[in-house]
Amino acid sequence: MKNSEQYLESLRRLKLRVFLFGEEVDSVVDHPMIRPSINSVAQTYALAFDPQYQDLMTAESSLTGKKINRFTHLHQSADDLVKKVQMLRLLGQKTASCFQRCVGMDAFNAVDSTTYEIDQQLNTDYHARFRRFMEYVQQEDLVVNGAMTDPKGDRSKRPSQQADPDLYLRIVERKPGGIVVRGAKLHQTGAVASHEILVMPTVALREEDSAYAISFAIPSDTEGVIYVYGRQSCDTRKLEGGSIDVGNCLYGGSEAMVIFNDVFVPEERIFMCGEYQFAGMLVERFAGYHRQSYGGCKVGVGDVLIGAAALAAQYNGVDKASHIRDKLIEMVHLNETLYCAGIACSCLGSPTASGTYQIDLLLANVCKLNVTRFPYEIARLAEDIAGGLLVTMPSEKDFKHKEIGPFLEKYLKGVEGVPTENRLRVLRLIENLTMGAAAVGYRTESLHGAGSPQAQRVMINRQADLEFKKSLARAIAGIA
Ligand code: SF4
Ligand code: FE
Repeated sequence: MKNSEQYLESLRRLKLRVFLFGEEVDSVVDHPMIRPSINSVAQTYALAFDPQYQDLMTAESSLTGKKINRFTHLHQSADDLVKKVQMLRLLGQKTASCFQRCVGMDAFNAVDSTTYEIDQQLNTDYHARFRRFMEYVQQEDLVVNGAMTDPKGDRSKRPSQQADPDLYLRIVERKPGGIVVRGAKLHQTGAVASHEILVMPTVALREEDSAYAISFAIPSDTEGVIYVYGRQSCDTRKLEGGSIDVGNCLYGGSEAMVIFNDVFVPEERIFMCGEYQFAGMLVERFAGYHRQSYGGCKVGVGDVLIGAAALAAQYNGVDKASHIRDKLIEMVHLNETLYCAGIACSCLGSPTASGTYQIDLLLANVCKLNVTRFPYEIARLAEDIAGGLLVTMPSEKDFKHKEIGPFLEKYLKGVEGVPTENRLRVLRLIENLTMGAAAVGYRTESLHGAGSPQAQRVMINRQADLEFKKSLARAIAGIA
């Protein structure tokens, strides 16, 4: 396993082409706007060496028998699935942001079982190739960018019907020894913090779309791959040099647009190439895992937000008020309800044909649909408890100013015995989580990440088995 320093060194060795503010970034590791997101991923390495988290953060490889970071593990039991959710909650608590490494884990677990089933039906040899790639990922302890979401253009049209055929990533040329692909993947969590990109199709496909039925893995700095870093609310506060106004002093999440400008993919790294009939299976499995993930990571971030709201109440001297206590209880109830579904869909997991465990799909979709709602209510309650100063507070530079600083110190003070700065810090953290940079992960990503709410409703409808429920009602009502 790599430690966090070794991870940073390995990232430094990559030659990624990353654009931010219209300029090419020299070093992603050292860029002040990108670094907090790299710190989050680095925590997935650091905690794997912490003796108290060994059970959650590490696993025994099913491929080599060696001890590996759980973020590179193929789940071998329901217990593995439960531990994954617990691990993500832990990371959410430690970073209060998106730590980005789960997308790749969810992607390779889905590709593992899907390639096995393609081979069984079509006599291909994708699974053996994929397992060789996985051994490399485990051996080198890599971060994998799970890349699914295509731009999609006109949503009423299928990939092959688009005016511009590149709006879904596709094969543009078949060459001896590999293929050339063109297209883009949007909203790619952790893309610039990753060593490898694992590409999957984004929708179920028909025969006419078979050029779009591709899955492959390439190093993140492969020629022709270009990253355009995504903006976040209040992101330039990271360039101001202070530590209060950023809200989260150390960590953050990141997304990027990834452009594949005629990229060559060697045969050894291709895991699906035209087998359109398996695209839906891969999409559904990946989405299922990632919907489970949210029952862990968002809960961990929620823990931090609840803690911040409780601190804000304490600093304001209202922590004993019954309505405040009631609001905090409500936040805990909502947060733990998210966790319940994350744990439940894991406990009811079952083996796929490849031996890799899959979550219970219905409960994973219920989990994610809850996540599209409850963080918004938790955020609303946190803002309610925090009070209006959350959005009217002067800057860190004013607070430190020779003349006006003492006025702010005096008039923004809460209860006696608590430094004014602590009050400002906790309010900035709540701002960061509810409407600042981390709100990408805690709010909008809760809505759209791992599929928008309608995608979960479609899956819930498919899994609901209403005919069975009707038969129950008929039996009880005495209907023949
Ligand atoms: Fe992991 Fe959550 Fe970020 Fe997805 S949103 S990558 S599950 S931390
Ligand atoms: Fe996500």
